[in-house]
Amino acid sequence: MGAGILASLTDLVLPSACAGCGAFGRVLRRAVCPACEAALRTLTPFATRPEPAPPGFPPCAALGPYAGVLRTALLDFKERGRRALARPLGVLLGDVVVASAPGPAVVLVPVPSTPQAIRARQGDHLGALTGWAAWRLRDAGVHATVARPLRARSRLDSTELDAAGRRAEAEAKFGLRAPEAGRLRDTPVPAILLDDIVTTGATLAVISSRLEAAGVPVTGAAVLAATLRRRPLSLERA
Ligand SMILES: [Zn+2]
Repeated sequence: MGAGILASLTDLVLPSACAGCGAFGRVLRRAVCPACEAALRTLTPFATRPEPAPPGFPPCAALGPYAGVLRTALLDFKERGRRALARPLGVLLGDVVVASAPGPAVVLVPVPSTPQAIRARQGDHLGALTGWAAWRLRDAGVHATVARPLRARSRLDSTELDAAGRRAEAEAKFGLRAPEAGRLRDTPVPAILLDDIVTTGATLAVISSRLEAAGVPVTGAAVLAATLRRRPLSLERA
């Protein structure tokens, strides 16, 4: 990771524990301690694909496995309300897109959260990450915009479902916003789906298939973390 990206971690003055390892003991001038920052610096985006990959799963790149500092930082951000992590994590998500060489223009499509989840977390966490990812892309000279051609309906919690169950759940969960999808279809800029974590791939597969069926070209997906029971591939093979 470039120094500029992680520098955003050092801009923060937080009188709280390290978002990576939870260490207290001194006033941290960073969201993460130096050791955790060093761990994040070692992460390099890689192509990831669930085994088995659900039909329609797009080429997907991840910053790292869902483990260690990345996992705890994501949990702090999503579940413990540590909003200051939106910027560094969002910039890192943008860097995953940059690493996939997206071309001169791209439209970022965040996986929509349900109104239920947004209320529970007091905010649209993926929307915040997407905003910073777009900022990172523009900083890299890519014309990046954000679109929301899908909506999510509140459904059952999917964390206990197997892959087939998640697929069925995702099929029922996401609906198309026809006017926004129509605008994307008529403006042929490649769409890249963004999510925080990929597990079975059901969500990304369903959303990609639905957008493609609506005539929206989806070139890939980028996530921060991949839960691994899958092997990392070289990004060139994505
Ligand atoms: Zn730490």
